[in-house]
Amino acid sequence: MSHLPFLSWIDEQHIPMLDGVLQWSHINSGSGNITGLERMASVLKDAFLSTGGEVEILLSSPMEIVNELGVPQRVSLGPVLRVSKRRNANRQILLCGHMDTVFGNDSAFQSCTDLGDGMIQGPGVTDMKGGIMVMLTALKAFEMSPHKDQLGWEVLINADEEIGSFGSRHYLIDSAKKADIGLVYEPSLPDGTLAGPRKGSGNFTLVITGRAAHAGREHHLGRNAIAALSRAVIAIDALTGGRPELTVNIGRIDGGGALNVVPDLAICRFNVRIKETEDQTWLLSAIENIVERANSEEGYTAKLHGGFSRPPKPMTPSLQHLFDLLQACGSELNIPIHYKPTGGCCDGNNLAAAGLPNIDTLGVRGANIHSDKEFIITDSLTERAKLSALILHKLASGEAAFPIKGDRQ
Ligand SMILES: [Zn+2]
Repeated sequence: MSHLPFLSWIDEQHIPMLDGVLQWSHINSGSGNITGLERMASVLKDAFLSTGGEVEILLSSPMEIVNELGVPQRVSLGPVLRVSKRRNANRQILLCGHMDTVFGNDSAFQSCTDLGDGMIQGPGVTDMKGGIMVMLTALKAFEMSPHKDQLGWEVLINADEEIGSFGSRHYLIDSAKKADIGLVYEPSLPDGTLAGPRKGSGNFTLVITGRAAHAGREHHLGRNAIAALSRAVIAIDALTGGRPELTVNIGRIDGGGALNVVPDLAICRFNVRIKETEDQTWLLSAIENIVERANSEEGYTAKLHGGFSRPPKPMTPSLQHLFDLLQACGSELNIPIHYKPTGGCCDGNNLAAAGLPNIDTLGVRGANIHSDKEFIITDSLTERAKLSALILHKLASGEAAFPIKGDRQ
């Protein structure tokens, strides 16, 4: 068991950490609520000033989405918070998190409830305002380590993670290339199990246009976009299992109107998960064939939008090295460390694709994320902050070796 003074300091932070998370949770920061995200960024900016780092608020790029008329549109996204300290140190750590949640202004889930037994329910308490608090507290503690000068760090907290990080990805990738290790503060499972390798993910929109006509008088002149889309959807759905563990989820279909009109527009939105990077090429060519077939039908146009946003994150030797380090820290703190593969993905996928070994579930323990039953296990705030502070300390002191960057299994 470690008796480092900054670890004992973290033990005293339970109440201020929890208070901070509850305050942050009451600020609505749904990915589409730009005003709320700007407010959240400014609150976080003030909080991170206490690390002594240089704090900046950066603009995200706009994101392209296909609207309900099938037309691509650019939408604005919330800002990115960047905090950095000792940029000139030889070794650099990148710590990432997101301030957005899946709960918009129109959600009924806006406040916190004490569930008893050390559990509090609230929007974003676990995913991932609790995680941001773990990161902040670990950094404040690390700044008390006698070895802190050996390590520089940068924090990136984006506002569009829940919708794919399209507007902030360039910041993540640029910073990943400069850093040696990445630490990401997504939640672990309630029992503390972390995510090991992760699948990759892509979002697509297929827009099919046909020709409108009166359903009674001139049905033969119409080209029914819904019927054409349905044929394509069945073929796309059948791609599930085409490669090991590849899944396609048809998530949403729009189209049509009055029943006496042949519909001229139909839109399908779907998500794809892949295990291996090579599956991307296989899937893209399979979808292109389906789109081509739809296009070749007389009177129809089919157009595919979107693509892969998060490549798979394999278990590489350098990621294994990081988990070994985490396990060593966990055993000093009596925190058991387990991890397993997951089909979910996060910004850890993007960092890994840029060659940065990273553990991405260093945030709090909790459950039911993305639902109005989301809760945090409050004891995990100090527990996980100690884990991160100890990792940083061991890396700075030279007790732990750095993994080799950019390896591929
Ligand atoms: Zn998250």
